[in-house]
Amino acid sequence: MNVLVINCGSSSLKYQLLNMQNESVLAKGICERIGIDGRLVHERPEGKYEATPAMPDHAAAMSVVLEALLDPNHGVIKSKDEIHAIGHRVVHGGETFTQSILIDEKVEAAVEACSDLAPLHNPPNLIGIRACRQHMPNLPQVGVFDTAFHQTMPAKAYLYAVDHKLYDKHKIRRYGFHGTSHKYVSQQAAELLNRPLADLKLVTCHLGNGASVCAVQGGESIDTSMGLTPLEGLAMGTRSGDLDPALITFIMEKENLTAQEVLDMLNKKSGMLGLSGVGSDFRDLATAAESGNQKALDALEVFAYRVAGYVGRYAAAMNGLDAVIFTAGIGENDSYIRAKVCEYLTWFGVSLNQEENKKRGKALDISNSEAKVRVLVIPTNEELMIARDTKKILEA
Ligand code: ADP
Repeated sequence: MNVLVINCGSSSLKYQLLNMQNESVLAKGICERIGIDGRLVHERPEGKYEATPAMPDHAAAMSVVLEALLDPNHGVIKSKDEIHAIGHRVVHGGETFTQSILIDEKVEAAVEACSDLAPLHNPPNLIGIRACRQHMPNLPQVGVFDTAFHQTMPAKAYLYAVDHKLYDKHKIRRYGFHGTSHKYVSQQAAELLNRPLADLKLVTCHLGNGASVCAVQGGESIDTSMGLTPLEGLAMGTRSGDLDPALITFIMEKENLTAQEVLDMLNKKSGMLGLSGVGSDFRDLATAAESGNQKALDALEVFAYRVAGYVGRYAAAMNGLDAVIFTAGIGENDSYIRAKVCEYLTWFGVSLNQEENKKRGKALDISNSEAKVRVLVIPTNEELMIARDTKKILEA
């Protein structure tokens, strides 16, 4: 079975075609600048192909993807019939979706209903679903939600301590994101540790441009650091993460800004970028820190301190801890941040092997042999998880 995985953003469409017999990637790529001009980067094991076809909308981008997959030179299939199902990343499933689901009209309407919880993400996800239907009306499509994995959180973890009416009326609560990644790496961790997932207390740290931490007990999310929106929790590339909510009106007054402008500032100009003034990419921060830039050093300290703080909090939430898992761009590549975080965790029983910590690119236990709490690096693979769910649903 070949599964096409689609991740549709407001002006981009990422795709990956997987052969689910052996879980190999046949081709992958991205359409960018949709609605502006259009740029395609298409990759297969044999090499990369780039082009600038017109992409006035997502349906046009979807045609470009299909043409690339079918192209006699850089394509990987001969006919659309070689695509057997489509799996979509959908950001917000609210309280409606606790797992992946075959998309029908009812599901689509429910995704639409969740749009006010994720106004930037759900509408393009829906556009992607509709564009695929337009091109391949008979193919089954599956929705895989970023929030679904966290629907197992207990009320004490998902409730904000505000008037309960706000939850009753508007479903204002914590949802969490990156669920597909947290679920994938926790399953991989159980394999690497050679122990049943049901017995494990894990903290998974998805540290990318957006970053979140999750407490995974017995394979279920029991708490996570992002909330109603992805702004809560860790300090991130450009997001502030946790702060005193009174800051918002304070900044509005002091800087003469509207609420929306402050929110924009907290989402796009804060975090590592705001603190350092250097940028949001950890490679740039490291370069600046090495040349003695104190603000960049401070930013990295804030980042690691927050991650470690959440690990400690979740060890308390689970009353135990078997392993800490690092994943995504920073988690998989930044040995400095991993070492910084682990320095705070020695009391818990973490003991980092400095040599192993330098390696990258594959799933690895980077602890010393005597460590009571293991530290793992596990490359995430959200596309594979989406394809697996899609296959599972079709076979059921
Ligand atoms: P997203 O999917 O959220 O865009 P990624 O998981 O791809 O993010 O992570 C992107 C981030 O990972 C970059 O902003 C950068 O800070 C960090 N990163 C990538 N490679 C490295 C590296 N070699 N060393 C340190 N940080 C890295």
